[in-house]
Amino acid sequence: MSLRDFVFEISDVLFPPLCLSCRRVVEGVPPPVFCADCLGRISFLSGSRCPVCGVLFPDSPAGDHLCGDCLASPPFFSRARAAVVYQGILSDAIHRFKYGRDIPTGGALARFLADCPFDDLDWRRCDAILPVPLHKKRLRERGFNQSLLLARALGKKHGVAVDFSLLKRRKFTLTQTGLSRQEREKNIKGAFEASRAGQIADKNLIVVDDVYTTGATVNECARILKHNGAADVAVVTLARVL
Ligand SMILES: [Zn+2]
Ligand SMILES: [Zn+2]
Repeated sequence: MSLRDFVFEISDVLFPPLCLSCRRVVEGVPPPVFCADCLGRISFLSGSRCPVCGVLFPDSPAGDHLCGDCLASPPFFSRARAAVVYQGILSDAIHRFKYGRDIPTGGALARFLADCPFDDLDWRRCDAILPVPLHKKRLRERGFNQSLLLARALGKKHGVAVDFSLLKRRKFTLTQTGLSRQEREKNIKGAFEASRAGQIADKNLIVVDDVYTTGATVNECARILKHNGAADVAVVTLARVL
């Protein structure tokens, strides 16, 4: 046994990998983020959906079709995909990460996201992954950008560069929590600006955020990127509010 393997074996005994939710010991190489029981309690997004914004049509006998919102006002992104539904143990973990500054939980969530199959996203055609930027005041308060941590894990997994400076947040916005769709769109309008437009023109970009609620934030990012000539903007989030 090499010294490296020995060190890993000892650390597994002293600090065994734990399920992110119930803290039971989990086994596997690499260890799974959630134990089988907790994984079974997570709602993955499946079934008929809107091919653009990804909203689900539960119990709909029809296949995939455009939703009313995307028909009435088509978003600037070509498609938005999320790994899981924002509820239960996943929303608890995101809350611990974001507001409890629990970075190890964030790292585990990022690994979980990177391992999710997004079958209709072509990562090989993607030129760059862009995290939704935080305003510098919010960054000072929180100490980190949760979307950047998620974007880095996706970039590493799929071999795509992460660029956190193409999009900048120029307007400090109050939290979107509790606002209606229209209020969210108004609140976020003009919040972002693009830098280095030459890096955006004709590029295929993927914007990453932690939670998709009404899509107002990622759509405003996509609007700025398309305005600066992006060929295509897709969106990936860890969770989606349904
Ligand atoms: Zn568990
Ligand atoms: Zn839609």
